[in-house]
Formats: sequence, C-alpha cells, structure tokens
Amino acid sequence: MITSFYPPRRTLLGPGPSDVSPRVLGALARPTIGHLDPVFVELMDEIKTLLQYAFQTDNALTLPVSAPGSAGMEACFVNLVSPGDKVIVCQNGVFGGRMQDNVERCGGTAVLVKDVWGEPVSPDKVAAAFDAHPDAAILAFVHAETSTGVRSDAAALCQLATARGALSIVDTVTSLGGIEVQVDAWGADAVYSGTQKCLSCIPGISPVTFSPRAVERIQNREHKVQSWFLDMQLVMGYWGSGSKRAYHHTAPVNDLYALHESLVMLQEEGLDAAHRRHRRNHQGLVAGLEAMGLTMAVAAEYRLPQLNSVRIPPGVDDAATRSALLGEFDLEIGAGLGALAGVTWRIGLMGFASSERNVLYCLSALEDILGRQGAAIERGAALAAAREVFAG
Ligand SMILES: *Cc1c(COP(=O)(O)O)cnc(C)c1O
Repeated sequence: MITSFYPPRRTLLGPGPSDVSPRVLGALARPTIGHLDPVFVELMDEIKTLLQYAFQTDNALTLPVSAPGSAGMEACFVNLVSPGDKVIVCQNGVFGGRMQDNVERCGGTAVLVKDVWGEPVSPDKVAAAFDAHPDAAILAFVHAETSTGVRSDAAALCQLATARGALSIVDTVTSLGGIEVQVDAWGADAVYSGTQKCLSCIPGISPVTFSPRAVERIQNREHKVQSWFLDMQLVMGYWGSGSKRAYHHTAPVNDLYALHESLVMLQEEGLDAAHRRHRRNHQGLVAGLEAMGLTMAVAAEYRLPQLNSVRIPPGVDDAATRSALLGEFDLEIGAGLGALAGVTWRIGLMGFASSERNVLYCLSALEDILGRQGAAIERGAALAAAREVFAG
C-alpha cells in the first residue's frame, strides 16, 4: 500500500526552489475558504498592495498569476505580443532562450541580442538593435539570469526601450526580494516574478505587474490573446478592483495565504534590509570560497548576491560532490548549465535561505567533501573568512 509522503528536510541552496519560511508553511495549513468569500477578496486586495510594494510600483494591474514563474513570463508575452510584432530579445543565459520561443509562439519575430553566458546584457548592443530595427515594438530581457548568476542593468535597458517608443518585458523571477527591483523608476512595462526564489515562498505562483502603457496596448489589441487562461482582460475581471469580481478560475486559495505571509515578512523586514542581508551573506560566502582557494565565475560588479556561480576546482568530480552534499549534508546546490555545465556550481542564497548559518554550513560541507576528494584547497580558512565579513 502506498503511504503518506514525508519529504526529507533539506537545505535548498540551489537555483530554486529555495527554503520556504516556516511562517509561510504555517499559513498554507490554514483552513481553505471560498475564492469569492468576502474575506478572501480582502486578502486579494492586501496581496495586490503588498506586491506593489515589492515591485515598487503604483501599477493598478498588479497581481499573482496562479501558476509558476514560467506562466508569468508567458502572460507578459501573450498579452503584449501580437502576430507580426518585432521583439528585441536579449540572450545571455537560459531564460532569454525561452523568451525567444514565447515571441515566436505568439506569431512575433524575435530579433536576438546575444551576450556571452556569464556577462550582462550590453545596452550598446540593444541600442544598435533598435537602430537596425526602429519598428521593434518590445524589448525583453532578464534582470537576474539564474543560469549564470549575472545582473543586467534594468534601468538602462528600460530607458532605451522607452526612448525608442517600445514597451519592455522584464524577468525579475530571481531578483524580486533579493536585489533592488524598481518597476516605476525603471519605467518598465510588463514585469513578472516568481515566489520560489527570493520571496521565501512555495513554488507555483507568479506575481506580475503591467504599466498603464502596457494596459493600453492590451486593451487595443486587434487579435484575441491566444491563451484563455492568461488573457489579462479576463483575469482582470477576477482580480480587478471593486466588488464585482467574476469567476475566472478557482484561485489557489491556500497558496495565496502563503504568498500573503511571505510578502508580510518582506514588508516587516523592509526591502532595503532584505537586500542588505542578501548582499552580506553573499560577501561572507565569497570570502569563504576564496579563502578555500576557489574562484568565482562572474565579475564582481555583475554578481547576483542570491545566485553565486563558482568554478569547480580542477580534478573534482562535479556530480559526486553534489550528490555527497545532498546525501551526507541534506544540502542542495545547483549544477552549471549549458556551456557552464561541469565548469561551475550555482550556490543560491535566496530569501529565507540567505542566512549566516547557511553560509557557514555550506562552506563546512564543501570543505569536507572537497578535502576528502583530494582537491587542492586550503583547509581551515573558509569559516574564519566568512565570520570576518559577518563581524565587520
Ligand atoms: C526560475 C526562473 C524562471 C521560471 O520560474 P518557474 O517558477 O520555474 O516557472 C524564469 N526566469 C528566471 C530568471 C528564473 O530564475
């Protein structure tokens, strides 16, 4: 007979999902109520307000899509891209590739701006793409590339789009809650995120926000949005303001309790403090890894504090190290992707998982396993180096 499932207790320091706060897990277990219950409608309004704070926006169309980050991505593309539209898509990692696929599935044409994996999107190349394609309707890019650990200059890229009369679509799945996301100050038009990275929440929800310009574009579409579920004109009927909420789909009621709790936690800590915590734990981790003799794969100025790409030292078995971390320490870190497979590890310090304790735990575990594999590392120096950062 199949019995209840009890997962092991892991420490999730990979590219996501990250550890969920116990407060959020507690919120999930509260009693389910109807998705049109007046009390639930109040919760929806609070979630909207809390998301506006997280995104730093006054956009009225700000809501959580009832599906993971990939659905938030798709929601932005299917609502804004019409057949025949030209979209400049920046690619410097995995997720830019998915953006291209989204554009093409909407009947648009993707103009690719490629940068090396491990480097940020080049605003100069984007400007050149607009010069070559002045009719481009949209610019799409990833703010925090989780596949490489690189931050791109969202403010500069959004400004470029605005100056050329184009809308911007920005992926902030890994940035929201971990580094500054300033939707209004950037002038970004369609921004999506996820709950499973730096929001300390469960996977499966995707906060999105659309500027008034983007809403106007959606309302003036000539073609129906090809996705019924993600059509914002329909979703707005359920999430829109006022009391006349119409059934569109059954909201994931308990998941939204969880999202609400995680956003309340973010508000309590404050965005600046949350960003400082991510930065400090990142600095502690880097100091420890470097004291051990390892080298980071991304230049310091573009590094994401929540996703640390580190080079695998010579002679070390990538897969064996990761499975020893999981098997002996219940600790998950991420493998490198694409050209970086077997070359880097990706150590996430996201949301609730971004703690001094986890930095020290990860450094100890890595030192132990690498030492036993006979890697040429410096032993006994990592924890002291991290502690020095934390004390400073
Ligand atoms: C994780 C991630 C996504 C996809 O989110 P899912 O919740 O896995 O669907 C999209 N973009 C980036 C940059 C991500 O890191």
